[in-house]
Amino acid sequence: MAFDAVVVGAGFAGMYMLHCLREHGFSARVYEAGGDVGGTWYWNRYPGARCDIESMQYSYSFSEELDQEWEWHEKYAPQPEILDYANHVADRFDLRRDIRFDTRVTSAAFDEVAKHWVIETDRGDAVTARFCIMAVGCLSSANLPPFEGLDDFEGPIYHTGQWPHEGVDFSGLRVGVIGTGSSAIQSIPIIAEQAAQLVVFQRTPNYSVPAWNAKLDPAYVRSIKADYPAFRAKARARPTGFYFPFNTDPALAATPAERQRQYEEFWARGGLPFLGAYGDLLFEMAANDTIAEFARQKIRAIVKDPATAELLCPDNVFGGKRLCVDSGYFETFNQSHVKLVDVSEKPIERFTRDGVVTDGIEYPFDAVVCATGFAAMTGSFDKIRITGRDGLTLAEKWRAGPRTYLGLSTVGFPNLFMITGPGSPSVLASMIQAIEQHVDWMIDCLCHLRDVGAATIEPTLKYEDDWVDHVNEVAAVSLRSQADSWYVGANIPGRPRVFMPYIGGFPIYVQKCNEAMSNGFEGFVMDRTGEANTPPKMRRTERWRAELDLDVISPAIVAARRVPVV
Ligand code: FAD
Ligand code: NAP
Repeated sequence: MAFDAVVVGAGFAGMYMLHCLREHGFSARVYEAGGDVGGTWYWNRYPGARCDIESMQYSYSFSEELDQEWEWHEKYAPQPEILDYANHVADRFDLRRDIRFDTRVTSAAFDEVAKHWVIETDRGDAVTARFCIMAVGCLSSANLPPFEGLDDFEGPIYHTGQWPHEGVDFSGLRVGVIGTGSSAIQSIPIIAEQAAQLVVFQRTPNYSVPAWNAKLDPAYVRSIKADYPAFRAKARARPTGFYFPFNTDPALAATPAERQRQYEEFWARGGLPFLGAYGDLLFEMAANDTIAEFARQKIRAIVKDPATAELLCPDNVFGGKRLCVDSGYFETFNQSHVKLVDVSEKPIERFTRDGVVTDGIEYPFDAVVCATGFAAMTGSFDKIRITGRDGLTLAEKWRAGPRTYLGLSTVGFPNLFMITGPGSPSVLASMIQAIEQHVDWMIDCLCHLRDVGAATIEPTLKYEDDWVDHVNEVAAVSLRSQADSWYVGANIPGRPRVFMPYIGGFPIYVQKCNEAMSNGFEGFVMDRTGEANTPPKMRRTERWRAELDLDVISPAIVAARRVPVV
């Protein structure tokens, strides 16, 4: 079968892409490895899973009717509600008829003569498409470390990102949890409520800010719905693509007493907006030290056993790894049946028939939860054999780290697009906004190719090289690039150390995408020889022309503006 476009993945990215392709008259087929829509929210069903961007902002913005009819119930939506939302969107826009579920794309190869992609799946499909659109997700390739003896363990081993649909009852069980990232921090308090004994294996302690989750006030919901587009525009103008109060003053200009008051005030607001207490926190180590020490004091005040409290205190950059948001995480360690085991110096040695061994001690378990994260950003690309021009595979091209132009496409792979690809803001922005902006740009690009009769589009090497340099240059300004996190691939041995997302700020990035488009797809070549690129109609991209919010200018944004793309 031949399609205009094949989309890989039916999370929020693939779903919106399919909707737009159909609206603009392109035939499309979506392949999804999971059994239904929702992506992240289909797979991550572990206890306590919820978003840490406020629900009123973590949703699509393309349909005012959808915005008005959908009702969120909590400040931070739980996973089942987000999955309900994804299902509602699939029903409302009749998406499922073009999606093949339980089908994994195994390879995609560009046929240079026919100028189309040949896509194959694990169910034996072989279809062709002019465009191949990767909507495979940044956090969709679960990382189960190759612990020795995994098969020897007689009990179940669960990964948070591949949680059983029927749920798991830990009542009365001895449970081990490996990892202390966001997934662990959300699930541990709930697992502890059920388990008879809980042992948490911690390699690196993490900072976490209380969510203070609550039911949504109907008056607040009404006030946003009264002018949702204005609220969305305000959010988009922020470096993170979501709105929260942000103080741009430097922490170092304040007295210790002022800082303490400020941190208390922002702590009381909770969640990721805690990082908005001052403007220099992610740029000046001395400023970062002040917020890190405040957070450590909170841990020491909560956790009663001083030795456990010290083990839980991180000594790395605050917010360097993705900041965690919790509901009662540190408090859990005050329960007598919960134990913290440090595996930073003495790693987990092996699984046995009965449990897990570290430092020569065997911990017996009935069940083990691996909250060990993901091969982030590129992990799901690595699992597909993607072959471009001259037989080059994407895995070979990206061996030393991903290289893209604007995180949208990569040289040597014509008509291959990536939604929230490496080199775009993706995980540093509110992701549904990042997804919509990418999809809208791609649709305008596809429409333009159709308008001018071009069969292929591909970036030029010079623009790609300059963009990669720019992504690195901006990352170097932020303390985030110094931390050992999944942003730089440090969570999994052997991955190249490259800061993968674009940290220059969402609005700056959007401006750069808009400029490339309005300059006639500057930095791209189309296969129509002899004609200069012409500016396209900005059918969908028009709505992304929001002004940068100058109230929240940061050193990374200054750098992003200063360093020209070419
Ligand atoms: P995904 O939702 O990951 O969907 C990708 C889909 O592609 C998956 O369903 C996968 O099965 C499919 N796929 C991959 N490879 C193939 C293949 N070869 N063949 C077929 N199908 C394939 N972001 C936020 O902004 N705010 C949050 O609060 C937030 N919380 C999160 C909580 C968790 C537990 C996790 C893991 C992530 C969270 N994120 C959050 C990031 C989240 O991934 C995005 O917000 C968003 O859901 C990504 O949508 P997506 O469609 O791009 O990718
Ligand atoms: P993660 O942040 O990468 O955490 C994985 C944890 O497992 C880390 O503590 C890691 O330790 C540990 N680990 C990995 N391999 C190990 C090994 N061999 N031995 C011992 N420990 C090991 O993964 P995650 O918690 O699933 O979160 C990933 C991202 O998804 C988040 O950062 C966030 O973006 C998103 N998410 C968001 C939410 C939310 O609140 N909305 C919830 C869950 C996830 P090291 O730190 O030492 O590597």
